[in-house]
Amino acid sequence: MTIQIKHNFGAGPCILPASVLEQAAEAVKNWDNSGLSILEVSHRSPKFEEVMRKTEQLVRELLEVPEDYAVLFLQGGASTQFSMIPQNFLQKHQKAAYLDAGLFGHKSIKEAKYFGQVDIVGSSAGTSYSRVPEIGAVSKDTAYFHCTSNNTIEGTEMFSFPDLGVPLICDMSSDIFSRVIPISQFDLVYAGAQKNMGPAGMTLVLVKNELLDTVEHPVPSMSDYRIYRDNQSMFNTPPVYSIYVAMLNLQWLKANGGVAEIEKENIAKAALLYAEIERNPLFFGMADQEHRSRVNVCFKMHDLAKEEDFLSFAAERGMVGIKGYRTAGGFRASLYNALRLDSVKALVACMQDYEKQNYGNN
Ligand SMILES: *Cc1c(COP(=O)(O)O)cnc(C)c1O
Repeated sequence: MTIQIKHNFGAGPCILPASVLEQAAEAVKNWDNSGLSILEVSHRSPKFEEVMRKTEQLVRELLEVPEDYAVLFLQGGASTQFSMIPQNFLQKHQKAAYLDAGLFGHKSIKEAKYFGQVDIVGSSAGTSYSRVPEIGAVSKDTAYFHCTSNNTIEGTEMFSFPDLGVPLICDMSSDIFSRVIPISQFDLVYAGAQKNMGPAGMTLVLVKNELLDTVEHPVPSMSDYRIYRDNQSMFNTPPVYSIYVAMLNLQWLKANGGVAEIEKENIAKAALLYAEIERNPLFFGMADQEHRSRVNVCFKMHDLAKEEDFLSFAAERGMVGIKGYRTAGGFRASLYNALRLDSVKALVACMQDYEKQNYGNN
């Protein structure tokens, strides 16, 4: 049976390198010739402790995480961080500043309100989140400022981060490891692994010890960052397999030159696709040009009635996962690290063929 080559533009869980999938599959059957599956070994075994150490080391190296930050592997997805952050750092009498730049930022605001007051210091809801909003001033007594570096659904990305004189917290779920972002400007960074780091099931948190030292109120154990830090993310059973596959994926990234190298490729991939969206008279981009994401490219057709037809045309040519998010509509091509430039070329060719087939070569 021949399997048609698939170009996986899915937004998450997303494409992983073929070599990583092969290693991951082998480890399920017989991990490192141990005669055991990775799925059936104790997380307290020296062999798995070694995986934890290596994964943390790779994160520190690839992202240049400063010494005084803890690297944590948690569960519950990025969405759990929406409530865990205020649970640790926001109390009823305090306020936190939030940027409302997309659906995920919007969700994080909802959760923060369970714990304290929320000041929305910028919103692009009025322009359908087509841009990153201007950020207003915050008062000195603000507990922290929260933003989303890449808006996965709306296809906008922040290319600079403000210093507002309060702790800076960022949801980097969809662009972590895709470009160089100095971690030292943030006090806490988090990311669900399934966009660029590995399979679903693990959430990466990088947090400055100094921020953790400010927590004075009691926090339930499973929500307390300090408990995870003090137990090397093994207070309870960690997501063993997700961490293992993330380690393989980060080894792949390192072998391919690291974040700075992959960033160059990511820039080239996005530039190629945006150029076609601009050139092709059938399509237009959804995000404002200066804010558009290099990771999630969102676009529509001028003739909405044609969108279903283009989707099946593209599916026949092996394009997977390009349907836009249900509330955003249109198309979204996610260009995560493991997606090759060749796949972007194939999508561009597909858009050009569709133009020719339907509208002649004008
Ligand atoms: C996918 C995503 C989330 C939600 O992640 P889960 O792991 O599904 O909870 C949050 N924020 C951003 C920016 C995302 O892309």
